[in-house]
Amino acid sequence: MNIYGTKGKVIKGEILQSLTCPHCGNKTHRSFGVLRYFHLCGVPLIPLMERVGIECTDCRWTLLDRQVPEQIRQEINSNIFERKYLLPIFAG
Ligand SMILES: [Zn+2]
Repeated sequence: MNIYGTKGKVIKGEILQSLTCPHCGNKTHRSFGVLRYFHLCGVPLIPLMERVGIECTDCRWTLLDRQVPEQIRQEINSNIFERKYLLPIFAG
């Protein structure tokens, strides 16, 4: 294991019912966030990048970042990357 470097963490978000999957017509998608951070000895120090995505719960069709419609992206962003989620990660 490296003493320092970057790591990624996937944070599960809420279930969305506002989109229809173009592949299977399923209306249920799970939102998620991907957080990349700089760590020292495995302790997260600095968040580097936050991305959001949604995944069809049926066929696993996935949209990432800019592919996610703006409004939904902001919604996921505020849900997932609020301090209450990040604090346990960056408490040290
Ligand atoms: Zn689907």
